[in-house]
Amino acid sequence: MSVWNLISQIRERVREEEGTLYKQASLRVALCYPSPYSIGMSSLGYQTMYREIHLHRGAAAERAFLPEDTEEYRKSRTAVFTCETETPISNFPVVAFSVSYELEIPGFLEMLDLSGIPALARERTPEHPLILIGGPLTNSNPVPLSPFADLIILGEAEELIHNFLDAALTAKPAELLSCFARVPGCYVPGLSGTLPPIARAGDDRLPARSQILTKNTVLSAMFLIEPERGCSRGCTYCVMRRTTNGGMRLVSPERVLSYVPAEARRVGLVGAAVTDHPRIKEVVHAIVGSGREVGISSLRADRLDGELVGLLARGGYRTLTTASDGASERVRNLVDRKTTEEHLIRAARLVRMHKLQRLKLYEMVGLPGETAEDIDELVRFSLEVARIAPLSLSVSPFVAKRNTPLDGAPFEGVRSIEAKMTRLRAGLKGRVEVRPSSARWAWVEYMLSQGGEAAGLAAMDAWRNGGSFAAWKRAFKNRDVKPFRARPVPDGRRNAPTIPFMP
Ligand code: SF4
Repeated sequence: MSVWNLISQIRERVREEEGTLYKQASLRVALCYPSPYSIGMSSLGYQTMYREIHLHRGAAAERAFLPEDTEEYRKSRTAVFTCETETPISNFPVVAFSVSYELEIPGFLEMLDLSGIPALARERTPEHPLILIGGPLTNSNPVPLSPFADLIILGEAEELIHNFLDAALTAKPAELLSCFARVPGCYVPGLSGTLPPIARAGDDRLPARSQILTKNTVLSAMFLIEPERGCSRGCTYCVMRRTTNGGMRLVSPERVLSYVPAEARRVGLVGAAVTDHPRIKEVVHAIVGSGREVGISSLRADRLDGELVGLLARGGYRTLTTASDGASERVRNLVDRKTTEEHLIRAARLVRMHKLQRLKLYEMVGLPGETAEDIDELVRFSLEVARIAPLSLSVSPFVAKRNTPLDGAPFEGVRSIEAKMTRLRAGLKGRVEVRPSSARWAWVEYMLSQGGEAAGLAAMDAWRNGGSFAAWKRAFKNRDVKPFRARPVPDGRRNAPTIPFMP
């Protein structure tokens, strides 16, 4: 593919967008997403940062994404360039990345490499852009990113980005970094010492919402808005639990609805615990009543009732999706997940009552304390549910995250997880659809989620050596990466200050 074809592809996408922002400004920021366009543009946090940077009096953001076909960029020697002005990201003074989770680190490295920007901060010169990293990954463990970042903003960046832009307009990079090394919520590798607690934006910044509507996303032309942030529950494996940033914060239905643009035909309500919002039905009623389709990112099984599921069916739902997470009620109790069998049976009945096509449950295997009997229990219970409504299970291996009480819990092991997946599939064959995630890639995610700087350097080695599972295994071994074993901490305390910088 020629350079011209690559540019035409991006132009075509931009033509199909509504809400693209253009602005002349003293400070231009390349706002990058280390996955392809369709994924990045489905990220509410990424879209929110795009708008926030534009709101600053002296700054403008231009978007860039990991190309779908990086080989074409390499062959044609095309640098990653922005959607708005087709400028290579290496020409910007600031290149900001939003990283969602550990397995996006190779995409981040790829974008820098395609742009001729050295990955390691210590190899960059004042001629290179300043590399700023934020995004959901910073809520748990951003330390593997520290060899590559000049500055990391942890947690909610809606306010801190404005402080950063103020400083970047006037200060030299070295001066800026030494100042931000002491700012709460900011981490400057090599200068900050320990990780600070994550940042919390003021409630007046809520709700986060889409800036650009386009059909070219995984959520196809859906306007996203956040009626609540955080969660008031305490599942011990979850980064978004009640101890993170003060738990759940609510936005009034009136405020949420006031932001929904007239032209939006599909509205997605996004948040860690949307159905825990005490007035969520008012929002859903208004959206569905205006003839729009609705989507909710987090349906809690204990919040489902006839009225809500009826509204969802009217709003275009065909599959009712909720999370069970633990293989059995015994395991769920161990991790403080309050979902009971009764809740899930009721969800299946609601699927049947409202003539939806199926119930989809998210499950996790490999939680601490789980045994083969729990997997058998999941088989038994799934068959019971499937007699009420067609059922799909989306099954992921448990990966312990920092900043949770289960931080430091071991990964069960690839073979053991694969054996459990096989047992599950065999027990449900022909009666329940089972979609397992890869145990191997969950192990890689685990090594990064529990690792320090050496894990980040291992990610760089693995990516340079082709990114196969064997390359990752070799890289962790060569860098002597061993997962850090933290002591689980009681509810209410965050454990970030105990994080060592090398595993
Ligand atoms: S898993 Fe869900 S319900 Fe549990 S704490 Fe996290 S966001 Fe809340």
